[in-house]
Amino acid sequence: MIGLRSDTVTLPTADMRRYMLLAELGDDDRDGDPTTKKLERMVAACLGKEAALFFPSGVMANQASVRLLARSGTEVFIDADAHIATAEMGGVAEMTGAQLRLVAPSGSTMTAADLRAVMRLPAPHQIEPSLVIIENTHTGAGGVVVEPAEMAAIADVARAAKSHVHLDGARLWHASVASGHDLVEFAKHADTVMVDFSKALGAPIGAAVATTEARIPELWRIRKRFGGSMRQTGMLAAAAIYALERHIVRLADDHRTAQALAAQLSARQPNRARAPQTNIVLVDLPEGIDASRVASLAQARGVRVAPRTARQLRAVTHLGVSLADVMYAGDVLADAIDTEIVRAKQA
Ligand SMILES: *Cc1c(COP(=O)(O)O)cnc(C)c1O
Repeated sequence: MIGLRSDTVTLPTADMRRYMLLAELGDDDRDGDPTTKKLERMVAACLGKEAALFFPSGVMANQASVRLLARSGTEVFIDADAHIATAEMGGVAEMTGAQLRLVAPSGSTMTAADLRAVMRLPAPHQIEPSLVIIENTHTGAGGVVVEPAEMAAIADVARAAKSHVHLDGARLWHASVASGHDLVEFAKHADTVMVDFSKALGAPIGAAVATTEARIPELWRIRKRFGGSMRQTGMLAAAAIYALERHIVRLADDHRTAQALAAQLSARQPNRARAPQTNIVLVDLPEGIDASRVASLAQARGVRVAPRTARQLRAVTHLGVSLADVMYAGDVLADAIDTEIVRAKQA
C-alpha cells in the first residue's frame, strides 16, 4: 500500500529504532531527562530561541502555547483553515476560555492586510485581542509557505493590537527547506513556536514549543496541568534528535516527489492538482465527481489518499514513499478520476 493520506504515517527507520534504544534516560518531570534536555537545546538553537519544552503531541503543544499567551475572555485571531481552527476547534475555548476569530484569507493564507481588515480599533467597549496565530507551512492551503516578510507584517499588526504571536510550525521544517530561509527567519516573528517531530520525519511521537527562558516555568506548569509531563521521555526525544540530524535534509526529496505526483496526474488531468510548494498535493475534482469514490478506487489499486472535502483529495509525500510510488499513484488517480467521469456521464 502506498500511503499518501498524511505524513503522520511515517515509521521510525531501523537505525532510528536502534538510536532510541541507546538513549540515556532520566525522570523528565522530576529532574529532567538528559536526552530530552539535549533535544530541547537543539530545538531552541535551530529556532534561535532561548529555550524549548518537549510535548507528547503537536495539539497539546499548540494548546499550551495558547494558554500561555492568550487570556480568558479575549479574542484569538487565526486563518479560518488553520489546524487550530479546523482540527482543534473547541480546545482554545475549553483550555483557555478565549474565543477564536476566524479570518478568511483573501488568497491562499491569511495576510497582514486580511488581519488588519478584521481587527477592531481598541476601545473600552470592544473585545480585547490577545493572540494572533500563524500556521507555517499552511496545511489546509496545501503546504503553502508563509514568507518571513509576510510573517513580519502580521506580527506588526498583532503587536500594534498588543497581541502576542504563536507560530504553529508543525511543518516549519518544510517551509525552511522549500524556501531556503533559515528556521530563525520564521521563528523570530513569534513569541512561541511549535514544531512537530511526527510529521514526515519518522519519529513516532512528539512536538516542542520554543520560547524565552522566562516563559518556560509557566509553560512547564501548564504542560503539567494538561497531563503532558512525562518520565523517561529520552527514547522519544532520541527519535526526534535522530530525525533532526538525518531527516530534515531529505525533506527536499519529499517536495520533489510531491511535484512529480502533481505532474504525473496533470499530464492526464490538467489543472486538477495544485502545484505543490512542499509535500502536500491538493487535487480539485471536476463538478459531480465524489472524492471518496475516487479515493476508494485508488485504494483498491494500492494507493491511499485522503478525501478532504466532497470534491477535494489530498496526497502527502514523506520518507515512506519513493519517486516510483508517486508516478504509479499519479496514474492510478488519473484512472480513478476518468472512471468516475465516465460513470457520471452514464448516470
Ligand atoms: C498535525 C498538525 C498539528 C498537530 O500535531 P499532532 O502531533 O498530530 O498533535 C498541529 N498543527 C498542524 C499544522 C498540523 O499539521
